[in-house]
Amino acid sequence: RQMCIRDSSTKTIKKIYIKSNFNFSSKKVYPTLMDKLLKNGFEIMRDFDETCDMVISIGGDGSFLKIVHELQYPKCIFTGINTGHLGFFQDSLPSEIDYLINCIKNSNYEIQKIIPLKATVKTSLRNFELHSINEFAIKGYKNKTVHVNLSIDGNHIESFSGDGIIISSSTGSTAYNYSASGSIIDPRLNVIQVTPIAPLNSNAYRSLTSSIILPYKSKVKITPENQYQNTTIFLADAIQFKYEKLQDIEITYSNYKIKLLRLEKYRFWKKVKEKFL
Ligand code: NAP
Ligand code: MN
Repeated sequence: RQMCIRDSSTKTIKKIYIKSNFNFSSKKVYPTLMDKLLKNGFEIMRDFDETCDMVISIGGDGSFLKIVHELQYPKCIFTGINTGHLGFFQDSLPSEIDYLINCIKNSNYEIQKIIPLKATVKTSLRNFELHSINEFAIKGYKNKTVHVNLSIDGNHIESFSGDGIIISSSTGSTAYNYSASGSIIDPRLNVIQVTPIAPLNSNAYRSLTSSIILPYKSKVKITPENQYQNTTIFLADAIQFKYEKLQDIEITYSNYKIKLLRLEKYRFWKKVKEKFL
């Protein structure tokens, strides 16, 4: 299967860190999972550190995103037990824990590497660097219309006005991007998708109404118009940031890689069908 890379550099999984969300069903799974892992000779880490081989999140896609941000994009393998709706980042249900443990013990899995996006935020005082798995979004403070300029690889494309702009990775194409009528991207393609949210089109404003899809190495730059430097909101996987005197934001793919464990049954388009159709 082309979408997964067998990762020969990955050493045997021994030390595991478990993170559960606060749902009742997730909290029920936690002791069962821990008990079964211990009985199979794995070591459960009380606190996370860089010696960790694998993180198992119990919850949904939201819980996976949260733990990756919290642990600051570590190099270990991630998998999850899905207790919510169908998740894109995890392959196992609570009833499939034994099967998952067997696959881990027998190295019967593949690693899918997903590449996060990086944003360099320039304000008149200093620069900030942020990462995201799904997307960055630019929105207006207190739901005001945003007025920003969009340029790609140094070329000005449009002066955008509307509710906002989503800059999505391939991984994020099924998330917020899809709700805003963006396209679902096959994970074998690494592209950047720029998707408008409720673009204004009148005799005063002209904005692109469909999303645009750009190759891997593209640089997307967002520059707020002059009066809007203090009222533009920036979101990284729905975590909100607001800056004083925002000058511009440049978005590219990062040098980070997140390793996802994929079981044999994983098929991206099957997940798409199950979740959306
Ligand atoms: P959240 O409740 O954790 O997530 C919102 C929904 O998006 C959940 O149903 C979640 O699945 C799903 N989701 C997250 N990543 C996905 C992916 N890569 N593919 C398909 N579905 C995915 O909300 P949050 O903490 O505010 O934001 C987390 C993410 O949610 C953001 O990165 C953004 O992409 C998405 N979001 C979507 C909308 C929208 O669709 N209008 C609005 C805001 C944010 P689970 O149920 O499995 O957790
Ligand atoms: Mn959720």
